[in-house]
Amino acid sequence: MDNSGILGILNLYAKLAELHNENSFKVRAYSSAAFNLKKIKLPYGQMTDADLLSVPGVGKGVVDSIREISASGKMEALNELLKITPAGIVEMLQIKGLGPKKVAIIWNTLQIESIGELLDACRQNRLVEAKGFGLKTQAEIVRSIEFSLMSQGKWHYARLWEPATSFFEDFKKEFTGSKISFTGAFRRAAVVLESIEIICDIDPFEVLEYCESRNIPADLNEVEIAATLNGQYPLTIMCTDSHSFERELFETTGSVSHLKLLNYQRSDDFETESDYYQSKGYRWILPEQREGRDELSEQYPTENFIEFWQLKGVLHNHTTYSDGLNSLREMAEFAKYQKYEYLGICDHSQSAGYAGGLKPDDLLKQIKEIDALNLEFAPFKIFKGIESDILSDGSLDYDKEILSQLDFVVASIHSGLNMDMDKAHLRLVKAIENPFTTILGHLTGRLLLLRNGYPINHEYIIDACAQNGVCIELNAHPYRLDIDWTWIQYAQNKGVMISINPDAHEKQGYHDMFFGTLAARKGGLLTRNTLNALSCEEFEKYLFERKGKIK
Ligand SMILES: [Zn+2]
Ligand SMILES: [Zn+2]
Repeated sequence: MDNSGILGILNLYAKLAELHNENSFKVRAYSSAAFNLKKIKLPYGQMTDADLLSVPGVGKGVVDSIREISASGKMEALNELLKITPAGIVEMLQIKGLGPKKVAIIWNTLQIESIGELLDACRQNRLVEAKGFGLKTQAEIVRSIEFSLMSQGKWHYARLWEPATSFFEDFKKEFTGSKISFTGAFRRAAVVLESIEIICDIDPFEVLEYCESRNIPADLNEVEIAATLNGQYPLTIMCTDSHSFERELFETTGSVSHLKLLNYQRSDDFETESDYYQSKGYRWILPEQREGRDELSEQYPTENFIEFWQLKGVLHNHTTYSDGLNSLREMAEFAKYQKYEYLGICDHSQSAGYAGGLKPDDLLKQIKEIDALNLEFAPFKIFKGIESDILSDGSLDYDKEILSQLDFVVASIHSGLNMDMDKAHLRLVKAIENPFTTILGHLTGRLLLLRNGYPINHEYIIDACAQNGVCIELNAHPYRLDIDWTWIQYAQNKGVMISINPDAHEKQGYHDMFFGTLAARKGGLLTRNTLNALSCEEFEKYLFERKGKIK
């Protein structure tokens, strides 16, 4: 094994030994030895014991370890520690700004065992509360994790949206009169994608010049330009002529399966996309929906898809009562200011101790505060809710007396995510059958690019929601977008309402509903099946009728 391999093992050993609270003298010996050995260029394996021992900080134990690693490629003491450390914790030790001491707190106190959960916890401000952390460290960790995601070449749609639209607006201003459009996976609003794609009828050399004038690094490859926005976001610009623009836009927008479904031929001649669809006997298909699934089938809805401006309420939000950054009043004022008719507050429930879950007394206090604010803010209305943990046996987190004082309940799984499908079904169905459950929160617990959800059979769970009149959340956070858009048609066909919820942990979080709406449209969600597109009065009536069924 070469020197850098050996150093890697010694360093990891020092970190793990510290993480597991081993003798601090030993920890320091290994980390300072690794530090000083870095300067030695000779292969360690070929150095004599005396030479190795002459390096500052290197003692007998380290020399023995170097011999062991050179001979076997392994270090037994390290393997022992690895056996008792979750893989996610080992990964965490590689994050800039996170030493073993901080990782130990994350692991032991916050009970977080993977990078995905860590990022999620940062988003919910859970780290701020822990010893040795602050808003600054938290932000650093988020940047560092996102950087490692970026190096895999995949992006959450929302992360690319801002740079994409600001480039697009400026580009259009410069080339007024030209045909310019987003295309590819970006135009399809894919939840995860590799690049921003734009198509135009502008000469590629003019586009290059434009990029140069804006200090945007760009390379031309025939008629395609690969550029990088703000030093990190990948952008592809395809240049074509005015005559072929519409055909190429159509061709580059739809997924391969969509084009196959249409039996599309390059020789097909058409002026506009809608002409093309019409010639094949279809209506114009929303770009978001051109994925080659069931968008061409007769049963697929053709119009009245939900639009962002149609959302009238904001459900599922956190305040400083649990792990939110803004107070109840601030959250309400901002929702009112943004012209929403109503707000649903759903802080974490008592079992979620790590997230400042509300004890019954806190919840009753919050209910009183909401009553007072409702008097002050009328006709704007705050609905009293809770995001109740679905406990390990599937029950909700409070007794009937408490639950019956609330207007609605979002039931979500936050702990014990490593379960098999049977266990997940047992917990979910029991929660769905609980008459107090109004909305099932983030259905699978997935974090896009970070963590798979627990396994479920979507049909089975959606059927249970249909039987019990429970709505399903489309959690609008760009990492979640859970329920996945591909299941919206099924839910709609079963008569299950979808609620586009921001799960906001600060007031700016409401804006995520914009991305949630895009995912909802991609799945063909209709306005009439969107719970928070109901007016305040309709929503109130909906809850009243539901509560009337509770015995
Ligand atoms: Zn949640
Ligand atoms: Zn939540």
